[in-house]
Amino acid sequence: MQRDGYRKSLWQDTTLSETSGVGELPFDILDVVVVGGGITGLSTALALRNAGLSCMVAEAKNIGFGTTGGTSAHINTVLELSYDRMISKFGEEDAKLVARGAVEACDRIRQLAELHAPKCNWSEQMAYLFAQDEKQAEELDKIVAGTQAVGLPASFVEQVPFPKAFVKAARFAGQAQFHPARYLQGLAAVFKEAGGVLMEDCRVLEVDPKEEALEVTTERGTVRARHLVYATHIPPGVSILHFRNAPYRSYVLAARLRLEAELPAGLVYDMEDPYHYYRTEDVDGDRLLIAGGCDHKTGHEEDTEERFRELESHVRGLFSLEAVTHQWSSQYFEPADGLPYIGKLPMADDRIYVATGFNGNGMTLGTLASIVLTDLITKKGSPYEKVFDPARVSVVAGFSNFVKEAVDVVGHLVAAPFPAKGMPELDELKPGDGRVVNHDGRSMAVHRDEAGTLHAVDPACSHIKCTVAWNGAERSWDCPCHGSRFNVDGEVLTAPSRKPLQRVDVG
Ligand SMILES: Cc1cc2nc3c(=O)[nH]c(=O)nc-3n(C[C@H](O)[C@H](O)[C@H](O)COP(=O)(O)OP(=O)(O)OC[C@H]3O[C@@H](n4cnc5c(N)ncnc54)[C@H](O)[C@@H]3O)c2cc1C
Repeated sequence: MQRDGYRKSLWQDTTLSETSGVGELPFDILDVVVVGGGITGLSTALALRNAGLSCMVAEAKNIGFGTTGGTSAHINTVLELSYDRMISKFGEEDAKLVARGAVEACDRIRQLAELHAPKCNWSEQMAYLFAQDEKQAEELDKIVAGTQAVGLPASFVEQVPFPKAFVKAARFAGQAQFHPARYLQGLAAVFKEAGGVLMEDCRVLEVDPKEEALEVTTERGTVRARHLVYATHIPPGVSILHFRNAPYRSYVLAARLRLEAELPAGLVYDMEDPYHYYRTEDVDGDRLLIAGGCDHKTGHEEDTEERFRELESHVRGLFSLEAVTHQWSSQYFEPADGLPYIGKLPMADDRIYVATGFNGNGMTLGTLASIVLTDLITKKGSPYEKVFDPARVSVVAGFSNFVKEAVDVVGHLVAAPFPAKGMPELDELKPGDGRVVNHDGRSMAVHRDEAGTLHAVDPACSHIKCTVAWNGAERSWDCPCHGSRFNVDGEVLTAPSRKPLQRVDVG
């Protein structure tokens, strides 16, 4: 299983077998094309297929290529937007509805795991949140009160199965964990068995709304569908939702401990900013600690390798590590008001749907999206429709014109050669490094690979022209504005961009 980064995640390294999703594009009009083969796309496609609809998943690369292949896979009913804050922002009724949805989604994951992915190691877990000072303790009081107010179990505890002193701690029952790649493989297999079409290496390039059906142009040809769901983590192209979701990067490691008894029994979180998260995973006889954190806004960290060093040294301060087996990072999107956007894509054809803004809760919320979207498409309504409505964002004046004129510019073309002579920055660039260099009023994003070859691209993001930044840890060019990511030759790794960066010939 390939992922959108240079480093291997534990999940992609321990898949069961490769799922193959190739073949002929369907000729007949499909009920739904689902774009994206992560947890959101596959859960939605399977739910739609089970509801009797003809359905195709179009995945740009392979299933699990996106953040689902780089997650840490805690399954939570207690979400990042704590229920006390949800109540004060949206009211108690809406907060209770979100809690009900989270429980329904976690239950759906359990059922699907038991039925279709028994090897994904799904297990129910307690979650623990601990405060290390009085300020955090006050915050924790509110979190516990809010969680209880929406009817979910939360209580204070005297002990936490974790080697860190705390001033106050709470426990939340009914959480879970699993191996996300094996779960996706189970969903993909049963979706295909049920007659669903899974197309990998099938990037969706354009969607043209025609009266009879949506015409969906992919890298493998054109298909027609009555509905389309963007389950691409963030919708491609230019959308108001790009201005309502901020991209962040988070870092994870898996490690073997000298003393297995030290492994935390449960899902554990501190309350630092950014916070750290921990769990364990038993994979093929190996009992591993998984720890993550050190988050930052995409493209806002010069030395992303340093974040791994910081995470490892933090974890070494708590546990005696025998060996770090995996280190990887991945991207998530933080929604402006804290809740995800699930429903009709604003300012688009009525038949196009979207699910985005999951923050660090995409296992639960991506699955909840599959429930909401299936109801919206098959029953024309969902109890969760209003609370997650993407159109709750108010469109700023002039935005429609901006969308029409926004670039999403064509790449592929090779820009005019860049004379490398007399550019000491290029000589200084070490193998594995990347940098945006300026010369003679022009700039280029250049990377030197291990063999010494230079790879150069135009640093203007093909989405709406922000300047990309080097991500050394994953060897990608990341856009700080909306989270598009590209490999060293400019190929798209992550939406919203649909087009590559322009290649530059370094003469
Ligand atoms: C380090 C980290 C840890 C996390 N930990 C947790 C956790 O413990 N619990 C939790 O609930 N959440 C967690 N999250 C969040 C969660 O992982 C994500 O919200 C979730 O995986 C998103 O799933 P998705 O299916 O929506 O998107 P993705 O998994 O990103 O899938 C989108 C897919 O769409 C494809 N695609 C994009 N554009 C196109 C196109 N034009 N045509 C065709 N295909 C396209 C991509 O290739 C990709 O495979 C974490 C996130 C990070 C970064």
